[in-house]
Amino acid sequence: TFAPPLISDMNHAIQVIVAVKPKRFDQLLDQTVQEYSANVAFINKPALQKNLTETISSTAKLYSDYYLHITPSHDYLLTKLTILKQKLFLIFAVSTILTFALLQFLIRHFITNPITDLDKQLTAVSESRQQEISYQKKNDEISRLGNKFSKLHAELTSTLEETKLQSRTDALTKLPNRASFYENGTKLLAQASHQEESAAIIYLDLDNFKFVNDKHGHEVGDKLLKSVATHLNHTVTFFSQQVDNAYPQVFRLSGDEFIILIKGKDDQFIQKLGQKILNLFSGGYQFELGSFPVTASLGIANFPKDGHSLSHLISNADLAMYQAKKTGKNKQSFYSKELAKKDRKVREIESRLKAINFDQEFVLNYMPILNTAGKIKGCEALLRWNSPELGPVSPELFIPIAESSGLFEKIDLWVINHVFENLGALRTLLGEDMEISLNISSAELNSESFSKGVATLAAQHHVQTRNIIFEITETFAPHQEQNALDWLQELREPGYRIAIDDFGTGYTSLMQMVEYPVDIIKFDRQLVERIAKPHKKALAKSLLDICHLQGLEVVAEGVETQEQFELLREINCDYQQGFLIARPMPLSELKAWLTENKLRPVNNSAS
Ligand code: C2E
Ligand code: MG
Ligand code: MG
Repeated sequence: TFAPPLISDMNHAIQVIVAVKPKRFDQLLDQTVQEYSANVAFINKPALQKNLTETISSTAKLYSDYYLHITPSHDYLLTKLTILKQKLFLIFAVSTILTFALLQFLIRHFITNPITDLDKQLTAVSESRQQEISYQKKNDEISRLGNKFSKLHAELTSTLEETKLQSRTDALTKLPNRASFYENGTKLLAQASHQEESAAIIYLDLDNFKFVNDKHGHEVGDKLLKSVATHLNHTVTFFSQQVDNAYPQVFRLSGDEFIILIKGKDDQFIQKLGQKILNLFSGGYQFELGSFPVTASLGIANFPKDGHSLSHLISNADLAMYQAKKTGKNKQSFYSKELAKKDRKVREIESRLKAINFDQEFVLNYMPILNTAGKIKGCEALLRWNSPELGPVSPELFIPIAESSGLFEKIDLWVINHVFENLGALRTLLGEDMEISLNISSAELNSESFSKGVATLAAQHHVQTRNIIFEITETFAPHQEQNALDWLQELREPGYRIAIDDFGTGYTSLMQMVEYPVDIIKFDRQLVERIAKPHKKALAKSLLDICHLQGLEVVAEGVETQEQFELLREINCDYQQGFLIARPMPLSELKAWLTENKLRPVNNSAS
């Protein structure tokens, strides 16, 4: 029936069975089953979702109460999951690497590189390969830090430069100082040696500067040093500019010592420059505070002739400078091998003097002194040193060495002690009124221990002080201060008499000399030689008259000729001493000499 079927019309009913083959569906299902290795089931009701960790399945409704349930196989899932896992891992790995690289790039770019750069700059600056840390325009933290470092470094550098300059500049004169001299000198020598050129140093020491300090005070002394520094600098600069740039540079070493460095110039140039410097001091030193009796002594040493190192050159120039001082102030002297030899001799004498037993090597000689009547007035005690190692050493050589090494007091007291010991014998030979002259070193002045030593020895030997004359050289005079004159006055008090020895070799005028608390003036051999001549008779007489007017007696030393002797007697020179009369002799020979010359003492008591 093609109408709606009715139960009552059952016989007419046709049963049509339609079978549909869902081809596409089957295909899909097959595909799905193959692709997913899935189990497929048709079920009446949707399957409950199982625990996800167990398996994954899916249910699709095909028709009411007709469902398709697909469950992919476990292996399929495992494979898929493994792939997924691998992909995930890959993604993770790639992203990690990328992140790491990015981070590293960022860190490098913004942190490490700027820090490394800063570090490199700091190292370069600290190793003096670079002057300063460059300024960063960026505004990040590292750049700011770098800029702070740069600023700090600039400040430190400028402070350091200032300190360096100060440490190399003499505070008083503003000349480069000792440290600077060593720095420049070392460089200069290296340069000169490299260029095979010569170099020289002039060592300058002021003479009598102590006198200015002592007499006028340190303030004047300082001003004088400043003025000397300025003049010296001008002279040296001006002179070198005129010739060409010989690199002379002036340094203040210490106190009154200056040094001048010169490069590539010969002795003639250096000597001329030295003379220009000495001209600043001719007739004393003059500056705005007045005129002062200050001169300069220059010592010169050449590189490489006189020394290869700076210290060697300095010590040789120093030696030459002392030589200049010895030959008279305001002089210059070049270092030489002979000078070094002399210096070695001086050192040898000094070390021997320190080691010897005076009693074994020292001997006293006596040199007679005659009065106008030709009678013997007394003797001058003169020291002789017979060294087994050095042979006879002249007192003219060893006394100044003893003075500079502080041995003079010991020597003087030894002489005084032995003269006092010999007084009895001398009196027997020369009479009660004989006078003995003793030389004392001018370095004794102001020495309290010396005065005490003399007093002790005099008490020991019961000495009659009026018969003792202490001779002190004229050279002490220009440096004298009131207290030294007071010291002389005190030495005189017990009754000793004082003689000024070697008058005429120093700078003191006779008018000045007669003001000193002394009793006798001894005209030096050189002065006697100059004035004890017929055409100088009037001059010699007036000199004597001045002394006599001041109540001073005069002894003429170094009388060698009969002509001198007669002339001096004619003009009333009180006493005479010299080789004409006698050479210094030991006490043991004195008696024979007296007898031989039929000489009688002044008071006749010993005749
Ligand atoms: P001085 O005190 O002026 O002694 C005189 C020096 O001149 C002596 O030299 C003497 O030998 C020398 N003389 C004297 N008459 C003549 C002469 O007619 N012609 C020549 N050419 N020379 C003459 P000497 O003994 O060599 O002493 C030299 C200096 O050494 C002394 O000069 C004195 O300053 C010092 N001296 C000597 N003995 C002593 C001493 O015991 N103590 C100290 N502190 N100094 C001493
Ligand atoms: Mg003398
Ligand atoms: Mg003398």
